[in-house]
Amino acid sequence: MGQVIAFVGLGANLGGDPARLRATLVSAWRALSALPGSQVEATSSLWRSAPVDASGPDYLNAAVALRTDLAPQALLRALQVIEDAHGRERPFRNAPRTLDLDLLRHGDSVVHSAELTLPHPRLCERAFVVRPLLEIVGDGQAWAADLTAALPGLADQPLERLVCTPDWPPG
Ligand code: ADP
Ligand code: MG
Repeated sequence: MGQVIAFVGLGANLGGDPARLRATLVSAWRALSALPGSQVEATSSLWRSAPVDASGPDYLNAAVALRTDLAPQALLRALQVIEDAHGRERPFRNAPRTLDLDLLRHGDSVVHSAELTLPHPRLCERAFVVRPLLEIVGDGQAWAADLTAALPGLADQPLERLVCTPDWPPG
């Protein structure tokens, strides 16, 4: 079974009240854990964030560590299938979305293709990515230091960790 740890960022800001957004992320989590040759190894808390460079309702965000056999491109395509299954539409850049699944890292893979950039190019620029990731990345990972170093610069991005979250993390 899977030899690589991939980190996936989850976000949702359309489709209804906070309970509905939470249900979307639970459903996405289950879809991730059902991918072939894949299992969820760690799940962050849920975090609420204000949209960055965009308008619309607040986001609900999380990150998971996925142990997987899938290659980077195959995993990206699988993430897009899950997004589409949750009604994702792409009317314009940074549009509000029912579900956003970003491939943040895939082992130590470095990719610069038309469809995929790894590590994710904005990995350290968004508090809603960095803080959930820090909950699930082991200290042993050299790149965790980059996340910690980025934190002070992200302090002005409104972000709140949700402490009472029924059904999360899904089991
Ligand atoms: P964003 O998540 O940046 O707001 P989208 O989810 O609409 O925007 O993704 C836009 C495109 O980004 C996708 O079509 C995908 O091919 C590309 N992309 C490049 N690298 C990655 C990555 N590491 N994870 C997810 N999408 C990526
Ligand atoms: Mg995306």
